[in-house]
Amino acid sequence: MSSQITHYINGKRVAGTSGRTAAVFNPATGQQSATVDLASKAEVRNAVESARSVAAEWANTTPLRRARILNKFLGILESRSEELAAAITAEHGKVLSDALGEVTRGIEVVEFATGAPQLLKGEFTENVGTKVDSHSVRQPLGIVAGITPFNFPAMVPMWMFPVALACGNCFILKPSERDPSASLLLAEWLSEAGLPDGVFNVVQGDKEAVDALLFDPDVSAISFVGSTPIAKYIYETATAQGKRCQALGGAKNHMIVMPDADMDQAVDALMGAAYGSAGERCMAISVAVPVGKATADALVEKLVPRINELRVAPGTDPAAEMGPLVTAQHRDKVVGYINKGVEEGAKLVVDGRDIRLQGYEDGYFVGGTLFDNVTPDMTIYKEEIFGPVLSIIRTDDFETAAGLVDSHEYGNGTAIFTRDGDTAREFANRTQTGMVGINVPIPVPMAFHSFGGWKASLFGDHHMHGMEGVRFYTRLKTITSRWPTGIRKGAEFVMPTMK
Ligand code: NAD
Repeated sequence: MSSQITHYINGKRVAGTSGRTAAVFNPATGQQSATVDLASKAEVRNAVESARSVAAEWANTTPLRRARILNKFLGILESRSEELAAAITAEHGKVLSDALGEVTRGIEVVEFATGAPQLLKGEFTENVGTKVDSHSVRQPLGIVAGITPFNFPAMVPMWMFPVALACGNCFILKPSERDPSASLLLAEWLSEAGLPDGVFNVVQGDKEAVDALLFDPDVSAISFVGSTPIAKYIYETATAQGKRCQALGGAKNHMIVMPDADMDQAVDALMGAAYGSAGERCMAISVAVPVGKATADALVEKLVPRINELRVAPGTDPAAEMGPLVTAQHRDKVVGYINKGVEEGAKLVVDGRDIRLQGYEDGYFVGGTLFDNVTPDMTIYKEEIFGPVLSIIRTDDFETAAGLVDSHEYGNGTAIFTRDGDTAREFANRTQTGMVGINVPIPVPMAFHSFGGWKASLFGDHHMHGMEGVRFYTRLKTITSRWPTGIRKGAEFVMPTMK
């Protein structure tokens, strides 16, 4: 008997009325575990109305009080993080320890947001003119929405809403319909922490719900994370409606391995970065770029046994290093890319297509896969696969390797492994990528810095969380004041200047 996953509006779970639902699966078994309601335009409007009724009061709640509520939420998250991680593993499939890691990275953004009174401090200048003072404040936008992907059902929403709420906005979350349960736990815990009803709402759904948010005149800003074609659509539609928008898209992250790199460290890094979470991370390394034949040969020789030893198992197995992919369709898409790589002439060194786990024959598993001799014109290089597939592109020199990173459509993250400071600095300085790791394979910025890529990996001007998040979720207002005891000059008709 599968359960029903509902919306969360005005402080409680609300069953859908649209008559449309989607099935939710346990990716390890292939069994349906639940049905999720898909919101209609009218149901999205209910959520917006609920936010509208409290938006002014929440905006005027002191930053300190908002921070205290987030602080209570933080405590609940910390004490119940295993419950949240279990909900993630059950619907996403990632291994439990990785799900806990995701929750921890989300918690860090809540910690950052509890600094609201400090973060929202404005600027003041006394005597911008004689007896004239100026101060600037950051005010909330009103009602903002977040549309999030399947691969981090807790962390990505937490990149957004803690900062948005801290800044005094109401928030409407539209999570992925593939793993929607985490969103309801987060909503309930926010209520338990004392967040007033209506300040945070969840609408489950698909394109219909997303479009309802994009066209709702009371929604001031949209934060999106997902694939590039949808990110582009969201950005273009939201901005055409006069909304502020940050839309983060897909990725193809390269890791350059220089001849002087510590090869064991590079191999350890690649194993985690390419196969962790079955490659379903926007910061996963999907292309390794060894420089020089000897580097490439050594890398392949060391990688192959490690990939063959990868412990692929259901995410709930404590020994698992890699779980299943999220859905049967996604598994088929990833296998399709492996077939394509073979057709296009890449050398399939480790083939993960035929993995079968006893007792989990219907799970959506694909084993770790390695392609060598990949070339830039191949589909498996140009497109995002989002699975446990690592491609090796062999290059002769640093210039060619760095050029590959720059000429790729995506620019989310990249890494270089080297012992040479000059090379590392040169690469970090010139690469056309938003996040760079030097001997760090997945350089995800901490909560007090900001996350975001370049090129087709981000549409908009603001990265997420950190001070970029505060800027995105607030509008600047500058007030210039003079009091009656100030100097009277009479009417002036020229541009005010200080002589
Ligand atoms: P997706 O684009 O399919 O879905 C993301 C969200 O958009 C979901 O909430 C979904 O319901 C909604 N959506 C899907 N189709 C839509 C449509 N036609 N119109 C309106 N809304 C629609 O992405 P996904 O498969 O859930 O997530 C994986 C993708 O997300 C990968 O491309 C990955 O690189 C990317 N991602 C990027 C980052 C980043 O920070 N850049 C982080 C995580 C994931």
